[in-house]
Amino acid sequence: MLFIIGTSVKNVKNTLANKKDKSCPFCSEKMHLIDTKQYFSAFFIPLFSIKNIDSYYLCSNCNYRINITN
Ligand SMILES: [Zn+2]
Repeated sequence: MLFIIGTSVKNVKNTLANKKDKSCPFCSEKMHLIDTKQYFSAFFIPLFSIKNIDSYYLCSNCNYRINITN
């Protein structure tokens, strides 16, 4: 039996942080908080997140990005 395991990186919308959503400084559209997470994966399918690598706000309209420094 061959197991292919490893890690992968995925950008996921942080739905728990709706209160922290803010408006884009350029187009006034709503910005969403995005987390870049490292996932443990098996057979190239991400199973669960190991750690949060990065977080940023992304405008859904013009893709303007604000990095959040931890
Ligand atoms: Zn924008």
